Amino acid sequence: LPVVTVIGAGLAGTEAALSLSSLGHRVRLFEMRPVLMSGAHKTALAGELVCSNSLKSLDPLTPHGLLKEELLALNSPVIEAAVSSRIPGGGALVVDRDRFATLLDGRLSSDPDIQVIREPVLKLPSVRPLVIATGPLTHPALMDDLVRYLPGMKLSFYDAIAPIVDAESLDLESLYPGDRHGVPGQGDYLNAPMSQELYHAFCQEILLGEKVPPHEGVEDDPASLRAFSACQPIESLVESGMETLAHGPLRPVGLPDPRTGERPYAVVQLRRETLSGSAYNLVGFQTRLKQGEQARIFRMIPGLSNASFLRFGSLHRNTFVDAPSLLMADLSIRGLPGVYITGQLLGVEGYTESVAMGHMTAMAVHASWGGERLPAETILPPGETALGSLLTGLSNPSGGVFCPINLHFGLFPEPGKRGQGKNAQESRRQTIVRNAQEAFSVWRKKTASDALHGEACGR
Ligand code: FAD
Repeated sequence: LPVVTVIGAGLAGTEAALSLSSLGHRVRLFEMRPVLMSGAHKTALAGELVCSNSLKSLDPLTPHGLLKEELLALNSPVIEAAVSSRIPGGGALVVDRDRFATLLDGRLSSDPDIQVIREPVLKLPSVRPLVIATGPLTHPALMDDLVRYLPGMKLSFYDAIAPIVDAESLDLESLYPGDRHGVPGQGDYLNAPMSQELYHAFCQEILLGEKVPPHEGVEDDPASLRAFSACQPIESLVESGMETLAHGPLRPVGLPDPRTGERPYAVVQLRRETLSGSAYNLVGFQTRLKQGEQARIFRMIPGLSNASFLRFGSLHRNTFVDAPSLLMADLSIRGLPGVYITGQLLGVEGYTESVAMGHMTAMAVHASWGGERLPAETILPPGETALGSLLTGLSNPSGGVFCPINLHFGLFPEPGKRGQGKNAQESRRQTIVRNAQEAFSVWRKKTASDALHGEACGR
């Protein structure tokens, strides 16, 4: 089997390298630390967690629990290391970060099929297959070089993410459909009308709400601050003037309320996040407000008083490519055969999502470059599973500008007709989970090639 070159021994790169080794490949793994540090990493250890020590919920009734259940069934080395270094943290997989990274670092260095090379890669190497797992803080020299090969320079250095809410948690009586300047009362957007009084109270809360401070060493340099101001979080707009939002993302022009025929003082627009309409994005609400503050303040919006947030808004430094236009069905990169980008650099967000992509990339590389040379798309998990839903998210089915994705219920296929209220929401989620578990088990049996899942080598 060909030697696979992996760049980056973070979460995705470590997962990919160890999984590839389990599948019988030899791996050359490049890591720039400790020669060069990223600004967020503090050690030279592989798989260092740069911030929180939680890999989120283990409850299989949640998307993250389901994702970990699938990864554990596939013998994911990183999630196994997380379980081995678990410390009490309620229903979440919280780890002792030193033990976790030490375990992974030890596994890499003691694996006879993995050569760890502690040096930065500053140009796109010509070797294939090549896995690039250099993360949200990829060394800029490598990025500058990679950009030359990506069609249309599809790359971002910051992400400004607006919150997503579950459609079932919305009070549709308080909202009206309508596209700006379209036929009143018809359209793809849902609109939340605000009176002048409510609008001003809302802006006041945004101004006073507690914000997430910039990450030290990563987001506090002048270039980062300039980039953030270019992204214009909602609180910056309010700071620039109490009427700015009403003339910007919340402008009511072209959106008369069909129930009164009048133009509201301001309108919050909710844009479909999924084809099925199971989730909606709050247009223009990228923010650094803390999550609790977002829930409290954004529930002031008519129709959102019981909103269930599938994803909160955020704004941070993050290098990522435009996966929907670059990711091929075999997970290689368009225009660069044999090159795979994975982890957060590909456009997923979060520790477990990055591990999941590292695992799927290893499977795809093995399918295309292993003994059997299978079309990788035929061995990847189906869209009903948590892993498959992540792949769906990377194809950006809702269209529009691509924002990095974390796993949430809205990415799973809609299980049937949607109802309203908490009970309907609960039973829909249970059906999604059941469908995912069934689809995963059928897929496992069908692919049955345990070699693809690391069992052939006795691990
Ligand atoms: P990383 O884990 O960052 O690994 C990339 C590796 O590549 C690093 O070891 C880096 O040193 C190496 N590298 C980079 N460039 C080169 C090069 N040219 N040559 C060789 N090696 C190179 N997610 C969460 O779920 N929870 C959080 O609390 C959280 N906090 C975060 C805080 C910050 C400041 C940042 C930037 C991100 C945070 N994230 C968080 C997101 C988190 O980084 C990712 O989810 C995860 O670490 C990404 O995994 P990865 O393997 O893609 O990248």
